[in-house]
Amino acid sequence: MNVPFVDLKKPHAELRTEILEAFERILDRADFVLGQDVTAFEEEFAAFCGAEHAIGVASGLAALELCLRAFDIGPGDEVIIPAHTFVATAAAVTLVGATPVLVDVDPITYNIDVAGIERAISPRSRAIIPVHLYGLPADMEAIMALAARYNLAVIEDACQSHGAVYKNRRTGTLGHAAAFSFYPTKNLGGCGDGGMVVTGDKRVAEAIRAMRNCGQKAKNKHEFFPHNYRLDSLQAALLRIKLRHLDDWNHARRQAAERYTTALAGSSVAPPSQSPDSTHVYHLYVVRTAQRDSLRDFLKAQGVATAIHYPLPIHQQPFFNKAPIRYDALPHSETICNEILSLPMFPEISEDAIAYVIDCVHRYSPVRTP
Ligand SMILES: *Cc1c(COP(=O)(O)O)cnc(C)c1O
Repeated sequence: MNVPFVDLKKPHAELRTEILEAFERILDRADFVLGQDVTAFEEEFAAFCGAEHAIGVASGLAALELCLRAFDIGPGDEVIIPAHTFVATAAAVTLVGATPVLVDVDPITYNIDVAGIERAISPRSRAIIPVHLYGLPADMEAIMALAARYNLAVIEDACQSHGAVYKNRRTGTLGHAAAFSFYPTKNLGGCGDGGMVVTGDKRVAEAIRAMRNCGQKAKNKHEFFPHNYRLDSLQAALLRIKLRHLDDWNHARRQAAERYTTALAGSSVAPPSQSPDSTHVYHLYVVRTAQRDSLRDFLKAQGVATAIHYPLPIHQQPFFNKAPIRYDALPHSETICNEILSLPMFPEISEDAIAYVIDCVHRYSPVRTP
């Protein structure tokens, strides 16, 4: 049996007629960039999150960068981020001329370690970017308390956590602003690139609305750096349709995850952690084992596609030899990257496929009887 890592065809096949009708309406209106569908999508996504403002942008990286700029973060400033994350979290900080300060992650949740944040705070610290990694919300209550104490902005990197809930609130509404990505493989993915900033802060929302569109508050009056970080109408139209299914799709991901987690108990791999405070949306289903590479080879030989998110922590990425960065010891981030393995996870994954993957993992590592 072949089990793909993701399936980007099925969700669109089921919605094909609806999507094509929406695209035809855009061809007729010809409002291709920041059109009616972008405005409607912003309103619907804000409502979905339970946030006041949502501003559509070109990508998740653009969303992170614009959040930092809206808080006036730049050269001389430090921004605290986890060492174990996708490179864009760090890249956004470097893009605005600030210095990423890396903090180790918790070895159980893989999210930023709050005690580590406090140790990393310096007089130059201006913001924290917690990442809700793999779809599990970070420990936001503790992070917000720390941020209040040290007067820091908190920008959620919610690029993997569309729809995830922490203490009865969706991610995106837990910090001062949040960045979402609609890269095709994300829980809510477009047919191209896209992103969104979500915030409850009117000043931040207005600045980002201007910055994404050539820095204009009013037409032909360019007050901010003239970026082109606009969202196009075709993406927004597709994402509006898919947003209506996001909760169901996240539910299906959770069911798949429960099957995996139950069946993998007693195997040689450690399933991901859960938290009673949160609803995990399993953007990725990541297990951990010291025999990661040979398990991965075995699964590949059995037809099971896997991936590694991510094989190197930020400070070991070659680019950051050339860019300013600050960090102390990062033992967990350095160990995890050699032991984590992302198993196939998407809403449409069949019970048979999950059973097959589980069987393969058990065949690689049969339960040892004492
Ligand atoms: C995908 C992702 C981003 C960047 O999003 P793009 O739309 O690809 O720019 C940022 N942070 C994390 C954690 C991501 O997973």
